[in-house]
Amino acid sequence: MEKTFLIKPMLDEIYPVIDYGKGVYLFDRNGKKYLDAASGAVTANIGHGVAEIVEAMMEQAKKVSFVYRSQFTSEAAEKLAAKIAEWTPGELNWCFFVNSGSEATETAMKMAIQHWQERGNQTKTKILSRWVSYHGITMGALSMSGHPSRRARFIPLLEDFPAINPPYCYRCPYNLEAPSCNYLCAKELETAIKRIGPDQIAAFIAEPVIGAAGGAISPPKDYFKQIKMICEEYDILFIADEVMTGFGRTGTMLACEQWGVVPDIVALGKGMGAGYAPIAAAVASEKVMEPILAGSKSVMSGHTLSANPQSCAVSLAVLEYLEKNDIMKEVDNKGVYLKYQLEKLKPQFNFIGDIRGKGLLLGIEFVADPITKQPFPRKLSVTQKIIEHAKDKGLLIYPAGSGIDGVNGDAVIISPPLTITKREIEELVFLLKGTFTVFSDEINT
Ligand code: PLP
Repeated sequence: MEKTFLIKPMLDEIYPVIDYGKGVYLFDRNGKKYLDAASGAVTANIGHGVAEIVEAMMEQAKKVSFVYRSQFTSEAAEKLAAKIAEWTPGELNWCFFVNSGSEATETAMKMAIQHWQERGNQTKTKILSRWVSYHGITMGALSMSGHPSRRARFIPLLEDFPAINPPYCYRCPYNLEAPSCNYLCAKELETAIKRIGPDQIAAFIAEPVIGAAGGAISPPKDYFKQIKMICEEYDILFIADEVMTGFGRTGTMLACEQWGVVPDIVALGKGMGAGYAPIAAAVASEKVMEPILAGSKSVMSGHTLSANPQSCAVSLAVLEYLEKNDIMKEVDNKGVYLKYQLEKLKPQFNFIGDIRGKGLLLGIEFVADPITKQPFPRKLSVTQKIIEHAKDKGLLIYPAGSGIDGVNGDAVIISPPLTITKREIEELVFLLKGTFTVFSDEINT
């Protein structure tokens, strides 16, 4: 039996030891092959084992691996910031590098609060968010998160930030359909702002496509336009948490571009280093940074490894790889094909409630009854069971859902590397069908 000292005592589970990865596949040291249909945690966007990235890593290491961000900058960091400014829409020109998505959303939150402080407004400190959301695991990020099971233990230590309903059309709280619903869930933002007072609110944060908490919940067409209009009307900054959706996951650099919306601040992570290095960023517009630069001159945040040259060089190589191979261009087509293949499974398994998402960020929600949409009882741990059966079959998929009764049901995310081929998509769906067959037999016996 393998010893996994750090992990086993926490999860009481023994993980396979991965030996190497190539493309969409991972291989453990017993020779078992896994199709990574989750890109790890929606991270390995360009697949595993890309030699060019390893070379870029080595080249940078030969020059310098670390300089302290308060003393120096580096060519890698400067080039990366320029590339991100070039790729992001509007005037999102100011890049603050951090090491994880949670740090990125917390930095975005701090930027928003600091923006208003520098403009002489000390009371605009609340961040509005949505139930069914995940913005990270640190205390500030958890305060903004609508992820009950991850918040539960720490509630006394969290800020009680207000949250509104998400655009969860499959379980619409108003029992209506878009667009005739008039986007009542977006209008909840206005109601909340009026109730709390715009002078108390720094920003509204949202994931363009809700990931871990919901299972790729994609909004109806004009939802984010409405949100942005309300934010502008009441002088509230709009933070897009694109940690999961950024860098082409939905086919455009930012998912917000799908709906023609430019946020004031964006949190990026995951695909930014594509798993080759820990790197993330909060990117702010000129409008957000102007008072900060005129006042304190810098953002009141930072970590020892912020803008680490090694991580920046890796991220730059990842972006160049995306660019050189024109990877984003194909995402929409691949996503449509994968969704089409998944839809074919729906009539075969009556526990498939909803198939949704955008680009190569797709989700499947499981239900006990497809007509009433009744979720499975939580104690059945349906998501966990399906993930385990998939792993046995050599397929990696990502768990989603809020983790408590009454919020939403069980769901998984299907988010393979953006480099996946048509044949690999077919293999993915074949393995998923096998997984669902095992689960179906299990619940029907
Ligand atoms: N924001 C979103 C939308 C995420 O999906 C995640 C991670 O899953 C985070 C923030 C936190 O990122 P990290 O796990 O790198 O801290």
